[in-house]
Amino acid sequence: MITKPKGTYDLIGLDSKLYQYIYNTVNEYMINYHYEFIRTPVFEATELFHRTVGDNTDIVTKETYDFVDRGNRNITLRPEGTAGVVRSVIENKLYGNRNDALKYYYIETMYRYERPQAGRYRELTQFGVEVFNSNSIMIDAEVISLGYNILKDLGIDNFTVQINSLGDKESRENYTMALKEYLKPHIEELCSDCQERFKKNPLRILDCKVDKDNSILKNVPKLNSYLNKESLDRYNKLKTLLTHLDIDYEENSSLVRGLDYYDDIVWEYVTDNDNLALGGGGRYNHLVKNLGGPEMPAIGFGMGIDRVINELKKILEGKGEIPHNIDVYIMGISEEEKIAGLKIAQDLRLNNVITEINNSDLSFKSQFKVADMLQAKFLLILNNNDLAKGLINVKDNATKEEIKVDENEIVDYIIGNL
Ligand code: AMP
Repeated sequence: MITKPKGTYDLIGLDSKLYQYIYNTVNEYMINYHYEFIRTPVFEATELFHRTVGDNTDIVTKETYDFVDRGNRNITLRPEGTAGVVRSVIENKLYGNRNDALKYYYIETMYRYERPQAGRYRELTQFGVEVFNSNSIMIDAEVISLGYNILKDLGIDNFTVQINSLGDKESRENYTMALKEYLKPHIEELCSDCQERFKKNPLRILDCKVDKDNSILKNVPKLNSYLNKESLDRYNKLKTLLTHLDIDYEENSSLVRGLDYYDDIVWEYVTDNDNLALGGGGRYNHLVKNLGGPEMPAIGFGMGIDRVINELKKILEGKGEIPHNIDVYIMGISEEEKIAGLKIAQDLRLNNVITEINNSDLSFKSQFKVADMLQAKFLLILNNNDLAKGLINVKDNATKEEIKVDENEIVDYIIGNL
């Protein structure tokens, strides 16, 4: 038997239902918040990720799926969503002469050669947004609250938005100097990755998972105390706006995010029980220019759908709730009953009632079993005698009560009782 590659999974059963639910919810929100859907290729030139995600990040040094294609091009499967969208904005000059914000969203699979474990896959799916051409702190508040509101609406309550400011270039340089000064005498006591980070990107030492309980890291100088006036003002304004929008947040001064391109505001949506990041994002005001585009501020986040699915499953299991499958199951034995059923099914489906119909030669007993398996709320048990009188036999599958309903009123009856 050929099995699936390590670190992947098939989207089936409850996972698949929850994916559809998340997908539909995300699309609704993006329409209301006026974000345009964008799709970029699953593979891009390898160089794009070295220049965006960063040569020193774990993702690029250890985790990308790289290959040389038949035309001898260096290709990488995208490990995250921002790089491709930025490339597309520049290549297609999507900014044109516009002076308003350009707002995009995506729902895509990503590929990271990670060590598979709970919540970590090699093929993962993210939805995310990228907003270009606005440095307004209102946009930061909008984007952070958009991710927050989607998670809440999906039914995830046990998470917190953690925010931080990395400050602008000047603030970051000042801080990096102070951090290096502080860490210098302790380098030998840090993990080997952090020793490397010390040389290339010392900020990333702050969110090291290996050294997180190390007392040296617990006492590092605080990033916030090195923000210059402008960066501090922005950060304070953001906090006021989040409160204004009823978004619960927490400040986390060691949050720096794993990628190289962030500056200023960064944030993560973190579960309260097991401290797992469901998603995160930040400002990247210099990336468009660095990739050959115009000077253009930008901001975005990515949310891990696989992890959101797992959270929703835990919540549903805790409540003993399984989302129901269908509203109505239509049963019949004879040809005439099935033909009548086909039309009733169409009428219900056109009125947004989730309907399935038996087209097999199963006995009624077996059809009842199928209806139970599909968790149908109502059964329409068609029989020729009733149909001749224009009546339909309706059984409420929870109470087991049966009544006869006029065939012209069946759609209204079902909708009224769902
Ligand atoms: P990142 O941009 O790396 O912070 O990723 C954003 C979100 O994607 C994370 O918060 C996770 O929810 C999700 N994610 C990242 N890597 C993986 C992975 N290997 N497997 C599943 N989800 C992931």
